[in-house]
Amino acid sequence: MKELLVATTNRGKLKEIEALLSGCVERLYSLADFPDLLVVEEDGATFEENAVKKARSAAQATGKPTIADDSGLVVAALGGQPGVHSARFAGVDATDADNNVKLLHEMSAVPAESRKAAFRCVVALCFPDGACRTFSGELPGTILFEQRGTGGFGYDPLFYIPGYDGTLAELPLEAKNAISHRGKAMAGLKEFLSSDSGLKARQ
Ligand code: IMP
Repeated sequence: MKELLVATTNRGKLKEIEALLSGCVERLYSLADFPDLLVVEEDGATFEENAVKKARSAAQATGKPTIADDSGLVVAALGGQPGVHSARFAGVDATDADNNVKLLHEMSAVPAESRKAAFRCVVALCFPDGACRTFSGELPGTILFEQRGTGGFGYDPLFYIPGYDGTLAELPLEAKNAISHRGKAMAGLKEFLSSDSGLKARQ
């Protein structure tokens, strides 16, 4: 694909997406290249709704094929929270640190065997004419009682992957991308872009 805009302001995500799409797109733009674009409100009830809303509005405003992802942490013991509210779990201007403190607090009485969670991600690819496709991915894990590791972003230091005996914040970026919810959703996108229907879709 010649050019693609990644509609995110999250630097952690952008870094991961750049690595995931390397070799697949000739020129990658980010929202930093379009500082006047209006920020859309992520008020959808699902990851899919939010991803499509973000990608479609940026594609229509810039005239460039655009991807946007919406992702978050789904914790069984919290009835699926924080879900689509993951970025602002501890409040509108919450930092990653604030959100992690709140998650630990909310789960303080939840025993080890009931701390199952999953990261989910939906990537939407939208074109300037409004047409969209979506791709999804999930990564199961458990929520620790304290943070471990300094890499990644968001809830990574609390998200333990049994198969790796470590948190996502302890994995190098390439290892995280190979197993992550975002990595899986982006693999679906890459497959689509290299398929016949993907080719047609971008003509
Ligand atoms: P979004 O920008 O609305 O998709 O918000 C996603 C939020 O979910 C982020 O701000 C993080 O709090 C959380 N999140 C999503 N993906 C990850 C990840 O890979 N690691 C850690 N936290 C994540």
